[in-house]
Amino acid sequence: MSEMKVFLKNYMEDMVWLLLDDVLQKWPEVCGCTVCRHDIAAIALNSLQPRYVVREQGEVYSKVSVLEAQYRADVYAALTKAILLVQRKPRH
Ligand SMILES: [Zn+2]
Repeated sequence: MSEMKVFLKNYMEDMVWLLLDDVLQKWPEVCGCTVCRHDIAAIALNSLQPRYVVREQGEVYSKVSVLEAQYRADVYAALTKAILLVQRKPRH
């Protein structure tokens, strides 16, 4: 019997990276370098409830759009707060 290759994934992590550029576009004065982007993503993810899902290797993930609609507003709000924090105190 071949074992299915499954792994855990925090779905919110995908959402944060997916929406980060969208939100950053609304704040053209905010630095969008790699360091600041990671700082913003980390702050946003720490303020969001993690949503773990079980994924199979190679699976095309079809629940994304459903979950996206459900959590989009939360992720947008968390990203906006994170952007303002990083803008106030950039690491560089
Ligand atoms: Zn920067």
